[in-house]
Amino acid sequence: MQERLEEIRTHSLESIESASSEEDLENIRVRVLGRKGELTTVLKAIGKLSAEERPKIGQLANKLKKKIEASINARKEALKGVHISGQGPTPDGSFKATTDFFIPGLDPTLPGRQRRLGRLHPITQVMDEICSVFERMGFTVAHGPEVELDFYNFEALNIPPDHPARDMQDTFYIDDKVLLRTHTSPVQIHAMERHRPPMRVIAPGKVYRCDSDITHTPMFHQVEGLMVDRDVSFAGLKGVLTAFVQQIFDPDTLVRFRPSFFPFTEPSAEIDIQCVICKGKGCRICSHTGWLEVLGAGMVHPEVFRHVGYDTEEFSGFAFGLGVERIAMLRFGIDDIRLFYDNDLRFLHQF
Ligand SMILES: [Zn+2]
Repeated sequence: MQERLEEIRTHSLESIESASSEEDLENIRVRVLGRKGELTTVLKAIGKLSAEERPKIGQLANKLKKKIEASINARKEALKGVHISGQGPTPDGSFKATTDFFIPGLDPTLPGRQRRLGRLHPITQVMDEICSVFERMGFTVAHGPEVELDFYNFEALNIPPDHPARDMQDTFYIDDKVLLRTHTSPVQIHAMERHRPPMRVIAPGKVYRCDSDITHTPMFHQVEGLMVDRDVSFAGLKGVLTAFVQQIFDPDTLVRFRPSFFPFTEPSAEIDIQCVICKGKGCRICSHTGWLEVLGAGMVHPEVFRHVGYDTEEFSGFAFGLGVERIAMLRFGIDDIRLFYDNDLRFLHQF
C-alpha cells in the first residue's frame, strides 16, 4: 500500500509540473482525486487494512492528498499569467507587427519595485543656483582646464614668478610649468583671449590647494566672474554682487565692501555679508564680528588686460570670485567642510 502511494505521488507531481493548461490540471485532478481516482481508491481501501496499519497509511494518504491539491493550485496560479497585445519585433528587426504575448506568472497588478533615486550633491545644487543667479543678470558660463599652465594660473594674472602671492596658495605642481589650478581665475584669461568685449562670463569649477582642515579641502569649488565693457565701474560691481548676495541669502541681507589686495585687481575689495546665523549680533561662526566674508572682487588690473591685448584706455572691467563650499556651509548651517566629501549617505540624503 505504501509503495502504491509513493507511485501516485511521483507520477502525479510530475504531470502537474509539466501541465501546460488549466484543462490539463483538471484532467490530472479527476484522474488522481476524482470519485474513482487513484488516490481515492487507496483511501477507500484503508478500511480493509489491519488496525495496526490503518492509522499509518491513512495519515500518509491524507498528507499526499493535501500535497497534490496544493501543487495543482500552485501550478494553476503560475499558469495564469497575462496576455499582452502590443507591437513586437518582426524578424527583420522592425517594430510594426502586432503580436499577442503570453507571459506566464506575470501579474501586472502587482506594484513595481521601488527604485532608489540619487540626487544632486549639495555642492552641485548650490553651484547651479549661483550660476542661475548670474545667468539672469546676463552672464554666460565658461569652463577651463583643471590642469593649467603656470602662465594662465599666475603670470597672466599679474603674479610673476617671485611674487609673494604664490606662497599664499599652496600649489600642486606637476612640473615647473604645469600645475593644478589654484583658482578659477585663469578661465578669465582664456575667455579674454578668445573674445573681444563686451563680455560677461562666470566660470564655475574645481580648484586645488595643498591644504586640509575643518574649513579647507585639497579640492574645492569656486565661481569666478568677469565683466568687461566700456564704462564698467566699481559701482556696477557693487550692484551686481549686492543683487547676487540678496538672491542667494535673504533679500534684506546687509553687504559691506572692505579694501583688500589681489594682484589681478586694482582697487580690490573683500565683500562681507551680515552674519546669517546671528543677524549681526555676533556669534561663534562670525567670530563675534557680526560679518562673514563671502567674496573677493575688484576692478581688473591693467596688467591683466595687457596680457590679453585689451586696450585699457577703451575698456574697463571687474572680476570677482567666491568659494562654493563656503556659501553652501552658510546656507545649510554646516560647520565641517569635510562632510561634503565623506560620501556619507545619511548626510547627503538631507539635501
Ligand atoms: Zn554671527
